[in-house]
Amino acid sequence: MINDWVDKENRMRIPLIAGNWKMNTTIGEAKQLVSAMLPGLDGIKNVDKVLCPPFVSLMAVKELIQRTSVQLGAQDLYFEEKGAYTGEISPLMLADLCEFVIIGHSERRQYFHETGETVNKKIRAALKVGLKPILCIGERLEENEAGKTAQVVTDQLQSALSGIDNLNSLVIAYEPVWAIGTGRAATGQQSNETAGLIRHNVAQLYNRKIADDMRILYGGSVTAENIAEFVAQPEIDGALVGGASLKASQFVSIVQQTAEIRGRLLK
Ligand code: PEP
Repeated sequence: MINDWVDKENRMRIPLIAGNWKMNTTIGEAKQLVSAMLPGLDGIKNVDKVLCPPFVSLMAVKELIQRTSVQLGAQDLYFEEKGAYTGEISPLMLADLCEFVIIGHSERRQYFHETGETVNKKIRAALKVGLKPILCIGERLEENEAGKTAQVVTDQLQSALSGIDNLNSLVIAYEPVWAIGTGRAATGQQSNETAGLIRHNVAQLYNRKIADDMRILYGGSVTAENIAEFVAQPEIDGALVGGASLKASQFVSIVQQTAEIRGRLLK
C-alpha cells in the first residue's frame, strides 16, 4: 500500500502530481530524466506520481519505473480501437502500457481542433479499456477577462462527460489556458474557487459522493516555488505540471512539498 495515511472514511483524496512532458525528450533523454528523478521520487509516500512522456518513450519509461511507486500516463489517444487511422494511437495499445491518459489538453483543443465531442469520445474510449483519464478543462484569457470562466468550465465539463455513467477514477485538471506555459500562474484562491465550482458541477451531474471523491488538479505554470499555494487549497488535489516536470529536481520538489503540505493539513 503506497498511500498509507489515507482515511477512506473521511474521503481524503490522495493527491496526484502528473508530469506532462509534451513533445519533449528523445528516448535517450526520457531515460535520463526518469533516472534522475527516480531516487528522489520513489520514496515519497501519500502522493500519486504520474509521468506522461511522449508515446515513443512510454515503453522505455515503463521499464525504468517497474517495481517503483511511479505510474505512467499517455498524453492523448484516438477514440477508435483499430483501423485505417494513420499515425494515431488506440486505447487498446495504451491499456497494456499505462494507467493514465491526458485527454482534452488545451494544446490539443487549440492546435488540433479537438472539440467537446471528440473529447467525450476519447474519454469513453479510455474508460472502456480501464485507462484513467486526466480530463483537462479551462478558459482562455479573453473568456477569463469577460467573466466567463464559470460558464466555460461548466460547458466543457458537461460536454466531456455527456452520457458517461461510470467515471472509474477519472481525474479533472483545471488548467486556465492563459496560465499554461506562460509563467503566469493563477492564484491559489482563483484556482480553488474554480475547482470548487467544478466539484459542485460534478455533484449536480452525478452525486455528492462522486464529487467528494473526485480529484481535481490545478495546471498552469506550476513550479517548485508556487506549488505550496495550490496544494494548500481544500479543493485542489495536486497538479498537472508541464515545463517544471522536465527538470528532475523541480519535479521531485513539487511532489515532496505536496506530500508534506497534505500530510500537515491532515493533522
Ligand atoms: C500543461 O502542460 O498542462 C501545463 C500546465 O504546462 P506548464 O506547467 O508548462 O504551464
